[in-house]
Amino acid sequence: MARIDLKNLAHSYISNPATEADYALCKTNHIWEDGRAYALLGPSGCGKTTLLNIISGLLQPSEGEVLFDGKDVTSLLPQERNIAQVFQFPVIYDTMSVYDNLAFPLRNRKLPEKDIRERVMEVAEMLEMQDDLKKRAANLGADAKQKISLGRGLVRSDVAAILFDEPLTVIDPHLKLLLRRKLKQIHARFKLTMVYVTHDQLEALTFADQVVVMNEGQVLQIGTPQDLFENPQHTFVGNFIGSPGMNFLPCRVKDNTACIGELRIPIGNGTEKPGNNYELGIRPEFLKLHAEPLRETHKVTIKEVENLGNCQVVTVLFEEQTLKVKVPEGQEIPDENGFLEFPQQWIRIYADGRLIEPTVLENPGQERTQ
Ligand code: ATP
Repeated sequence: MARIDLKNLAHSYISNPATEADYALCKTNHIWEDGRAYALLGPSGCGKTTLLNIISGLLQPSEGEVLFDGKDVTSLLPQERNIAQVFQFPVIYDTMSVYDNLAFPLRNRKLPEKDIRERVMEVAEMLEMQDDLKKRAANLGADAKQKISLGRGLVRSDVAAILFDEPLTVIDPHLKLLLRRKLKQIHARFKLTMVYVTHDQLEALTFADQVVVMNEGQVLQIGTPQDLFENPQHTFVGNFIGSPGMNFLPCRVKDNTACIGELRIPIGNGTEKPGNNYELGIRPEFLKLHAEPLRETHKVTIKEVENLGNCQVVTVLFEEQTLKVKVPEGQEIPDENGFLEFPQQWIRIYADGRLIEPTVLENPGQERTQ
């Protein structure tokens, strides 16, 4: 498996791009570690497939380089890159048996039949297809065919990386859940470098140990699911991850303090800049709703209560701004007014959509010199 370096990588489908908006993939520099599972996550049209196709060699980037273990592969064709790919729809030979389909990539590389058998049996076991090996692929349903595709992607142990482009789209929801877990187990066992494109956050968060969140051609954040949940670097990430997403409230900043009504959050020296748009971000899970006023609570109007079975999502109005609060199942919700607590450790402040880094708070001189 390989480490993947993206160096000054960018792509535009038009010949003379002038502005960032002309790029399907804006300039990006990242190192993806050997043996890790990455998910490319973002809404439709954000550039996930463009990036995946550049890594696989299906697309030549208009700028920059792709390196596998330090070797420049930018101009190599997919078949010269030693990668495996699994697409949205099954790519299999209908006339062959399941066994022969799985064996095909290994026979192509002239491996001894004994080694092929061993590996095919191993992959069939991983995907719980041992009983199907003799069946003709043509006679199987869409789910089983896509499992063969996954198996063909996983069968070679010598590939630099396995690239998945929304591979579970055609799979029924129950099997989808099983296969997602399976892929995670396979990754944990074999430490394969995997890159997985999806627009489904649940799929990304359960599959990957590093999630790459993209929007409008930009890689906005790469992090563990926990990082993305607790410390979104960008308001888009806060919104996109979580259900409901993070609350963002426009706020004033004065004397190094973010203010909304009586709520005051110190933001450290040096972070205040004229013209910045500030927002206070907090996840619905971290807000606490009380029936009575307590120290450090703020009066809110209850607008709506949605019961989700295992919890309730309460919409409240605070200083004329709407917030969502996740409240445990069974907690009594006041009819008209409640009192909201904003635990300080979960408050994040954003300037023009970007998180104000705690390091900036601790080093007030740093930002002024940038
Ligand atoms: P989806 O989830 O819908 O597949 P995506 O995140 O994979 O979307 P891309 O397919 O990479 O996004 O597309 C990124 C942008 O590039 C979009 O604006 C798209 O319209 C554009 N684009 C993609 N392929 C081409 C192409 N061959 N020619 C011109 N523009 C393209």
